[in-house]
Amino acid sequence: MKKTTSSEITICGHTYDEYIEMVKAFHGHVAPGMVIGGFMVDLANQNLPEGEFFDAICETRACLPDAIQILTPCTVGNGWLKVINLGRFALSLFEKYSGNGVRVYVDSRKLDDWPELNTFFFKLKPKKEQDFEALINEVKCAGTSIFGVREVKVDMYLVKSQHRGTFTVCPSCEEGYPGKDGEICLGCQGKAPYLNCEAPGYQ
Ligand SMILES: [Zn+2]
Repeated sequence: MKKTTSSEITICGHTYDEYIEMVKAFHGHVAPGMVIGGFMVDLANQNLPEGEFFDAICETRACLPDAIQILTPCTVGNGWLKVINLGRFALSLFEKYSGNGVRVYVDSRKLDDWPELNTFFFKLKPKKEQDFEALINEVKCAGTSIFGVREVKVDMYLVKSQHRGTFTVCPSCEEGYPGKDGEICLGCQGKAPYLNCEAPGYQ
């Protein structure tokens, strides 16, 4: 295994150790998926097409959105990061007007050289049986070598159609909600995750 010292590695301008501290501060613990994600964002940044303003798409809800949110200006909250949950550990950064961008994904064939990383990625063992130290070390040593990079052109219509449309007041709970959801809000349609509120009209 190639020896790599932390000081040589940078992730979007931060040293590896700085990035690990950022992950801890934001996420609460060093999630391997977020460390992998940091290298992915870094690689995407290195391969951006021309342009000034970039939005992000994340194809999984797990860990990767947080890496994007701490390393780029794109967050779910500001709308510049869209999570389109395809279940793939992949992200795209794209120029927000043209849709020209770059997609970074985990190249499954490149995981063969990294046994712990392969086990983690394909969930071959329960988490508690995985060797966390060895895994993190493999993630660090592998760096960006386990990813593929492709140019993409994002379907801006599809991405924009995720907008929620106009808001209206729900006649049942009297809270605002996207009118396209129906006569009453999704919460009052029984989709709320609370056991102690009866829907509709729980007040
Ligand atoms: Zn309601």
